[in-house]
Amino acid sequence: MKSRSPKVNRAWLHEHQNDPYVRLARKEDFRSRAAYKLKEIDESFQLVRPGQCVVDLGAAPGAWSQYLRRRFAGPGGRMDGRVIAVDLLDFEPVDGVEFLQGDFGDDALLARLEAMLAGRAVDLVLSDMAPNLSGIASTDAARMCHLVELAVEFAARHLHPEGGLVCKAFHGSGYDQMTRLFKDHFRTFKPVKPKASRDKSAETFLLGIGLKRPPTAV
Ligand code: SAM
Repeated sequence: MKSRSPKVNRAWLHEHQNDPYVRLARKEDFRSRAAYKLKEIDESFQLVRPGQCVVDLGAAPGAWSQYLRRRFAGPGGRMDGRVIAVDLLDFEPVDGVEFLQGDFGDDALLARLEAMLAGRAVDLVLSDMAPNLSGIASTDAARMCHLVELAVEFAARHLHPEGGLVCKAFHGSGYDQMTRLFKDHFRTFKPVKPKASRDKSAETFLLGIGLKRPPTAV
């Protein structure tokens, strides 16, 4: 990530402290405002249902996992559903959520994830993975595309035929390629920009529902 000048730092801090989603996240005890992006997507498309198996890619610091855990709260607080979180970075455990630390592009990590699934189809693959930004637009676009490709490839192999994939992408170069990939794999495709995603951010979420072809690995 590029370093910020003190002036930019102050502006960022001011904006951050006055952000309604940051305030709400503090109040509702979410680890980051990112929780509200998933909440809005879920509420619009009814994606998360108790009993599901969900893989949360790029999960640190854990706000999406917290949201899923709360949606899966059964009687007596028992967890009705399964969440497997993956990230390069370690983070404070979320009760009931399984965690795999490592690079999702690494074959060894993928093999560990597949062993945990033991052939069970995944109902929902969520990817909020974001590359470290270099500031060089073409490099950053290529890194983002690679992460999207990894998520789509995993979904094509492990998703339930009626399952869904929500994947962070950036508008800009490579965007058309990413949407083509979704249209190629999913019966329903929709780009979504939740209100909690800042207007000035190039971030968009690509939603695919229902595989066009049966999963290859389940
Ligand atoms: N959804 C998270 C939440 O709700 O707290 C926020 C995710 S943050 C925007 C993006 C995450 O993607 C970072 O924690 C980063 O470490 C992770 N990431 C980026 N590339 C990755 C990779 N190749 N494998 C696993 N995680 C990755």
